[in-house]
Amino acid sequence: SAKAAGKRQWCGYQPQLQAGLVERHELNESLDTAIAESAFALYYQPIVDLLTGDLVAFEALVRWPHERRGMVLPEEFISLAEESGQIVPLGAWVLERAATEATAWQRMSGELREAAGRRPLRVSVNVSARQFRDAGFVDTVRKTVETSGIAPESLILELTESVLMRRDERVRTDMQTLGDLGVRIAIDDFGTGYSSLSYLREFPISVLKIDKSFIDGLGLSQQQYALVEGITRIADTLGVQVIAEGIENVDQRHLLAAMGCPLGQGYLFARPLTADQAGALVQQDAERAGLQNGRR
Ligand code: C2E
Ligand code: MG
Ligand code: MG
Ligand code: MG
Repeated sequence: SAKAAGKRQWCGYQPQLQAGLVERHELNESLDTAIAESAFALYYQPIVDLLTGDLVAFEALVRWPHERRGMVLPEEFISLAEESGQIVPLGAWVLERAATEATAWQRMSGELREAAGRRPLRVSVNVSARQFRDAGFVDTVRKTVETSGIAPESLILELTESVLMRRDERVRTDMQTLGDLGVRIAIDDFGTGYSSLSYLREFPISVLKIDKSFIDGLGLSQQQYALVEGITRIADTLGVQVIAEGIENVDQRHLLAAMGCPLGQGYLFARPLTADQAGALVQQDAERAGLQNGRR
C-alpha cells in the first residue's frame, strides 16, 4: 500500500528492520490493551481415546481476535508476549478461563461419564518457559484451582523441554509443589527440543505429548515408527501417559493404536473448537457414553 511504501521510504537504509520494529511496537501496545480487556479467545481441541474415539480431554489454545488482522494465531504473538513478559498475565487468563470452562463441562457430563466408567474430562493448558519461571506461577495455579473449583488431577500443564533443561533448584521445587497440588504435568512437543527420557524420572511428569513431526512420518518410515513405538513403550513402563499430536489420517490413528499409544489429537478428529462447539461435543459424547452404558 501507499502508506506502507511511505513508511519504508521514511525508514531509510534499514527498511525491513525498521518496519519490523514499528510493527512489533504496535503489536505490543495492542497486546497490552487486549490483556487489560481480556480480549482473547480460547479454542479447545479434543484429545480422544484412539481405540474408541471417546472424548478424554481438551487442549486449550489461545487466539487473538484482532479488528484489523482477523483471528491472530499464537505463533504470531506468544513469542512477543514472552519477550515482553506479557505472557504472565495472558497465561494467567488462559489458565483461569480454561479451568472455569472445563469445570462447567465436567458438571454437565460427570454423571453420564461416571456411570459409563469414564474419568472426568480433563483440560490441558500450555505454559511457556517465561511464564513458568515467573515467581508467582505456582501461586497462580493454586488460586486457579481454588477459584474454578476444578479437581487438580483434571488440570494438565503443558511444559516444553526448554523448561526442564535448566534443571535448577527453582524448577525442581516448583515441579514438586505442583505435583503435590495434584495437577498433572505434561511435556509438550516431545522430541523437538533437547529430549531426554531422564526428565521422566527426574520430574513428576504424568503425560508425554509426542510432537506432530514424528506422527507425520509414521507410515512413511520404519525408523519413525520404531522411534514412536519405543517412546510409547518406555513411557508406559514408567507410568507416563502418551498423547500423539497432529493426527491427520486414519493410517496414523491405526498405527498408533496398534503400537499401544492410547490417546491422540489432530485434525482427523477435530480442529480447535470454540467453547460453544466444545460444550456441544461434551454433551454429545456424554450422551453416547450413556447410551453405550444402557446397552451393556
Ligand atoms: P502446541 O501446544 O503443540 O499445540 C498444537 C498446535 O497444533 C495447535 O496450533 C493446533 O491447532 C495444531 N494442530 C492440532 N492438530 C493438528 C493437525 O492435525 N495438523 C496440524 N497441521 N496442526 C494441528 P495453534 O493453536 O496454532 O498453537 C500453536 C502453538 O502455540 C501451540 O503448540 C503452543 O505451543 C502455543 N500456544 C497455544 N496456546 C497457548 C497458550 O495459551 N499459552 C502458551 N504459552 N502457548 C500457547
Ligand atoms: Mg500444547
Ligand atoms: Mg504440542
Ligand atoms: Mg507446539
